[in-house]
Amino acid sequence: MINSGSSSVKYQLIDLDGPVRLKAGKIERIGEPESGVHDHEAALKRVAEEVSRVPGEMRAVGHRVVHGGPSYTEPALIDDDVVKQIEAAVPLAPLHNPANLAGIEVTRRLWPEVPQVAVFDTAFHSTIPPAAHTYAIDDEVARRFGVRRYGFHGTSTAYVSRLAAEMVGKPATANVIVLHLGNGASASAISAGRCVDTSMGMTPLEGLVMGTRSGDIDPAVVFQLIRGGMSPEDVEEMLVHRSGLLGLCGDNDMRTVMERRASGDERATLAYDVYCHRLKKYIGAYCAVLGTVDVIAFTGGVGENSAQVRRRVLTGLEPMGVRLDPFRNVSCTGTRLVSTDESRVAVAVVATDEELEIARETFTVISRTNPE
Ligand code: ADP
Repeated sequence: MINSGSSSVKYQLIDLDGPVRLKAGKIERIGEPESGVHDHEAALKRVAEEVSRVPGEMRAVGHRVVHGGPSYTEPALIDDDVVKQIEAAVPLAPLHNPANLAGIEVTRRLWPEVPQVAVFDTAFHSTIPPAAHTYAIDDEVARRFGVRRYGFHGTSTAYVSRLAAEMVGKPATANVIVLHLGNGASASAISAGRCVDTSMGMTPLEGLVMGTRSGDIDPAVVFQLIRGGMSPEDVEEMLVHRSGLLGLCGDNDMRTVMERRASGDERATLAYDVYCHRLKKYIGAYCAVLGTVDVIAFTGGVGENSAQVRRRVLTGLEPMGVRLDPFRNVSCTGTRLVSTDESRVAVAVVATDEELEIARETFTVISRTNPE
């Protein structure tokens, strides 16, 4: 599976029979003169070299694609038409789709015989009903520009919600809230395996406070800044790359923010408070959307590793049936339940595995199109 970003290419070679990871790596700093990797072509040639050393036949390549636009509700076997659709979604994901496309284009040339599958971050959210994915703006304008909520982190959210539902013994019916808290962060509400709401929107900028992204703000802030003399590009750059935890306190790494907070740093304390407040607000909102919640699942670097963030955002939710077990929360690592046995709403920590999910989705598509 290949995750081709703007400055890096991550790859994993997975044998699904195990599943076993046969090879994994990351080529970084693409385009920087001193890295020696001039472009995506050079990066993927390195990947091809690495992969060719592993014995056995490569059956398929799965590509992570951030934005599938309105067309894709599931992964797609890549052909020229699929490439065109991913190109059509570039205006919706100008930072991500071009890099994903570069990866696809080079990989198709390097391995012309191997089927390639696009796995979209947006696909899992295609079940979100119109009431939740429609922005209340002029509907003609919305249609013309493709403005609606699409949602992202779909691959991780699908994987984690399925596992969490199994962990509470309700694989087919559970109502689940997934909190994917990495550098990017999103919350999603899933009912019986189908996503019904999510915090990221037309782009990954909406919703929770993230490492460098603002999440929700009043859209009038943007006009205010533009009228004040900032260019639209500067405002976008600020909201995407210099906001969130980084904007609030100068650090986007949650571990550093927490260390600074522990030593009494005021900016880091405020950044942490804003982050946790927003997260708690979304948990409450999705409890209301779902009616009953079987399990709240934490994943991503912060969600999996920070017992403190989990405790902070769940404290006060006891009347809603959430009882965190303080011992389980801090004592173990990895995928597990961290609520008490009596808790009406279970709390799970789930180690996400987007790569494995992409490999599985890819295999499903090629088995369907090419049954043996
Ligand atoms: P990405 O979204 O790039 O895949 P990750 O899911 O790895 O990122 O999450 C990165 C975030 O997880 C960083 O903010 C990092 O500080 C945070 N993180 C990792 N370990 C811990 C920890 N023990 N406590 C708090 N935050 C952590």
